[in-house]
Amino acid sequence: MKLEKYSFGLGDRFGQQGFYQLKAIIKAKEAGIDITPVWNKSNREHNIVHTEPGDVRIEADQAVKKAGWKGQYLVDADHINLGNVEKYISSSDFFTIDVADYIGKKASDEDIKVFIDKNRKYIGQLFIPGIQKPFNVTDNLMRKISETFLYAAKEASKIYNFIAERKGAENLVPEVSMDEVNSPQTPVEMFFILNALAHYNVPVQTVAPKFTGRFNKGVDYVGDIRQFTQEFEEDLLVIDFAIKEFDLPSSLKLSVHSGSDKFSIYPVMGELIKKHDKGIHVKTAGTTWLEEVIGLALAGGEALELAKSIYTKALDRRDELCGPYATVIDINENELPSPETVKSWTGEKFANSLRHVPGHSDYDPNFRQLIHVGYKVAAEYGNVYIQHINANAELVGQQVFENIYGRHISRLFAL
Ligand SMILES: [Zn+2]
Repeated sequence: MKLEKYSFGLGDRFGQQGFYQLKAIIKAKEAGIDITPVWNKSNREHNIVHTEPGDVRIEADQAVKKAGWKGQYLVDADHINLGNVEKYISSSDFFTIDVADYIGKKASDEDIKVFIDKNRKYIGQLFIPGIQKPFNVTDNLMRKISETFLYAAKEASKIYNFIAERKGAENLVPEVSMDEVNSPQTPVEMFFILNALAHYNVPVQTVAPKFTGRFNKGVDYVGDIRQFTQEFEEDLLVIDFAIKEFDLPSSLKLSVHSGSDKFSIYPVMGELIKKHDKGIHVKTAGTTWLEEVIGLALAGGEALELAKSIYTKALDRRDELCGPYATVIDINENELPSPETVKSWTGEKFANSLRHVPGHSDYDPNFRQLIHVGYKVAAEYGNVYIQHINANAELVGQQVFENIYGRHISRLFAL
């Protein structure tokens, strides 16, 4: 199964917004940009919200039917490994094979020797078409890269083979992700990682590196945009070269696990994929559920009270809620508004504080990040939360649509 040129990985914690997310994809199509929607939900999210992988398939199918979508759409088993992939096999057709935990584990001496011997021709000046300065590949560098990534590539092939044997290779899109680590992978590392994946026969279609800079959940990019730009462009060119050099799928492209809302680098990414005529997969919209909370706040009355109590409880339990996300959030606790302050807010004020509009005087990234990791609190409200969402479906859905189309798609594709 070949993934099309542009695709968006859409998160939807509570599974209620598929139709409104798809409306944003449809609006992009009307504007001339074809995007494949890929609904994704990680194992961690399933555990916290108490949903099953099959629920995401049901949501996607229903959204597609309701909207009359005729294009490609997929369901992503997000960040899986051998230990948990089994339950995703039947309902997913996109698999994000997460090998981050295996990076740095050393492959056997024999495996390393075979790989290095096969790749001796790249030692010296390695020219990648389009990249001005050649990479200087020394014996040492080749060994170091092999010792860091070869084992992970072999693990990726084990997981891939496990899935392919059950589903059939032609029925799935494999992604390999390495984004949940501390140090970014450089373009020359990317070259050898793709080399290693090909070496182990993984027909990878999207690859998610860790880029330079911080990709905190639900807020903008923090880092050196110039360095990101160079790295991103070199990765595009390395992938282009690797497709031919290692006979990888022609659809292979970068996958950006954005953590949502990387507004300042969207234009950079958009210009570069246009310049080089490349595709992209952007995982985003994990913050769709924040749009639900914004909708509740705007609805007023009991719905607004519910939104406020989600914040108050999250504030109380901030250590517990922030723990699992410590590496991807930056909350300044001293600047979080007190429960009394929030209690006095109108729905409009609450919504403006939460909604990610950079430059808006009410926008509060601390408030936003805390609520974002507080989805566990909303999950504990169970049906009460879902009922309020559904009682205000139009208003909530409008926020979801506006966010994905207006703040994400239109920024990336300059629409
Ligand atoms: Zn990721």
